[in-house]
Amino acid sequence: PQIGTFLHFLLERVTRDVQALGGFAQVDQDALHALIRKYIEEYVEKELRNFQNRNARFRYLFARLRTTAYAVIDQAAEELRRSDFVPLAFELSFGDGPESDIPAVVISEPDGELRIGGKVDRVDGWLKDGKLYLRVVDYKSGKKAFDLAAVRMGLDIQMLLYLFTLHKAGPSYFGREIEPAGVLYLPARDDILSARRNIPPEKLQAEREKQLRRSGLLLAEPQVLQAMEHEALTEPRYLPLRVNKSGDLSGSLASAAQLGKLGRYVDKLLRDIAGEIRGGVIDADPCCHTEEDSPCRYCDWAPACHFQDGRDGDRLHYILPVKPGEFWQEIEGIEGKEAD
Ligand code: SF4
Repeated sequence: PQIGTFLHFLLERVTRDVQALGGFAQVDQDALHALIRKYIEEYVEKELRNFQNRNARFRYLFARLRTTAYAVIDQAAEELRRSDFVPLAFELSFGDGPESDIPAVVISEPDGELRIGGKVDRVDGWLKDGKLYLRVVDYKSGKKAFDLAAVRMGLDIQMLLYLFTLHKAGPSYFGREIEPAGVLYLPARDDILSARRNIPPEKLQAEREKQLRRSGLLLAEPQVLQAMEHEALTEPRYLPLRVNKSGDLSGSLASAAQLGKLGRYVDKLLRDIAGEIRGGVIDADPCCHTEEDSPCRYCDWAPACHFQDGRDGDRLHYILPVKPGEFWQEIEGIEGKEAD
């Protein structure tokens, strides 16, 4: 977790300073690296006191992490140089506290109220025809990727929740009408590729490009995608998109109408969760892709819970892959049932 905290710290501080200097297009590599160096030193001073007295292993790992930090920020900078979206907010917080930027998300039911708070790593915006298109960006130091199959099970919905909340509450904060443009996970890590020693350079480049890909869900409007990444419609490098030989675009996309339905689906999930909590439902039915990634393997409560898949009511819920077409059909079906 400390690695994630360190990279978050750098990404936030450096991007904020670069924006104040006029954006990444105005800041060359040397100036960017000087900023990264400055904030690494600040972090070491504040958070890693006694750095010189730490053991050799720690110092080696930290040196490696510095290299990762330069690589991650270099590619975030390169992405933003090719984009008309600009970072508008960092660590934007939702909640009830006096420090919160945006009020808590509230799910009201006749017999109770669920109030949700949280924080968005970064919000990027693009102003077009008086509307502010917003995308929510989350830095991920692990391998996590956006997955409709998880969303379908009610998991990993926080980014979507933030996006839809900004749609509703954003105008008073940003002073503009808001259009949700998508959510993106930005990999805050620099993986070491394993490849054959004699791998051809083009193949190696293709492998590296794969690592740069963000995952997420984006508004399927060509103009918006092009604003996010200038080459989105021809040769996307960062966005989760593909363009075939005939120039057809595919990828993790949703129309404005589908995003609207997804917003209502997320609301429904929250109402269901709130209802279950109020109803005292604490069934042992965790979700996982395989037995190996089941939360039970790392759960502090396992010795008390004695979960055993298949025994009485104990059951693992497998997150099964879902095709986008099936996902949207299912969401529509649920909405239809709710309306009845
Ligand atoms: S061990 Fe029990 S409490 Fe822990 S994740 Fe598994 S089912 Fe849930």
